[in-house]
Amino acid sequence: SSRFKDARIIVTGGAGFIGSAVVRHLVRDTEATVINLDALTYAANLSSLDSVSNSPRYVFEKADIRDPAALRAVFERHQPTAVMNLAAESHVDRSIDAPGVFVETNVLGTFNVLQEALRHWRTLAGEARDAFRMHHISTDEVFGTLGDEGFFTEETAYQPNSPYSASKAGSDHLVRAWHETFGLPTVLTNCSNNYGPFHFPEKLIPLMILRGLSGEDLPVYGQGSNIRDWLYVEDHARALTVVLERGVPGQTYAIGGNNERKNLDVVETVCELLDKLAPGPTKRRDQIRFVTDRPGHDQRYAIDASKIKRELGWEPQETFESGIEKTVRWYLDNRAWWEPLVDAKSGGGALQRRGHG
Ligand code: NAD
Repeated sequence: SSRFKDARIIVTGGAGFIGSAVVRHLVRDTEATVINLDALTYAANLSSLDSVSNSPRYVFEKADIRDPAALRAVFERHQPTAVMNLAAESHVDRSIDAPGVFVETNVLGTFNVLQEALRHWRTLAGEARDAFRMHHISTDEVFGTLGDEGFFTEETAYQPNSPYSASKAGSDHLVRAWHETFGLPTVLTNCSNNYGPFHFPEKLIPLMILRGLSGEDLPVYGQGSNIRDWLYVEDHARALTVVLERGVPGQTYAIGGNNERKNLDVVETVCELLDKLAPGPTKRRDQIRFVTDRPGHDQRYAIDASKIKRELGWEPQETFESGIEKTVRWYLDNRAWWEPLVDAKSGGGALQRRGHG
């Protein structure tokens, strides 16, 4: 399409879970050149990009969004036509243990990206200036928690409850202000929980798959009654490119999968798939253990994604059943991707954390 022809898109956080799905999708399915700007924190994995890293339309720049001079250098070198800001600290449990870096990266880092995007945008003229986009990627967690009824929409008031969601809410407010005050052509998306291949094994679904395989306990917070609305990561990547291409500056789009599931149901589904695809000596559901609930744990998230469907024609292609089976199969077939993470990271492995994301 026109926006991706001759496009040079800076994707911050492109070595992370969702960012790498976005980079793979853009390189594979569009004509854009993609500049992956990532600081390579514990959550990054460049091997998630092996399928595109030899492309002449893929560039990696190691840089930290907390560092304005580093951002400036990358923008000046690549003269982007768009920025997609996915770099973030993303794990709720880590934000409870150590919130400072969440404020630094998610709030101040986004401020730096906005300032640099604004400076760069002001150097553009004519069509290039009109076409420029600053796309900030956010979460439905900024809206707080739902009871049994209702859905989050683009109109829902912000009510973040965790240090993670508060830092993302702060970043969203800055994005809004940079549009309203300075006219920067921003688009903002708030998406529900993602799952799929290349997901770091501290998050609920990969944690349960890998612990299920190794025979360890499967720790579930509280009674496992918290509800999340699950979206397959490749559906999210497609939604983001649709918003970048056709979204209206200043607008927000809520993205979700229409797949509400209780955490316990998710874990039991993973157990059944493992029993089917990789039978063990005992049933995996016998490994489930209920653990003390996370403080401030939101009860329910659910997205009404009718605006992006109506205005931009996007809807998910995977159901939860098809996506979760693809995901379990991917972890079974790609041990070389996750085994080093389990062995080396966070003092005895990502699987040793007390809970899940
Ligand atoms: P992730 O933790 O898997 O990846 C984050 C990436 O950002 C990593 O590659 C990391 O190295 C990089 N990064 C972190 N701090 C940085 C810094 N200071 N400078 C440059 N790079 C830095 O996260 P994810 O799950 O892929 O999430 C990506 C974005 O999408 C986040 O903004 C998150 O808030 C949002 N989001 C995530 C979900 C979800 O379910 N995972 C849902 C909705 C929105």
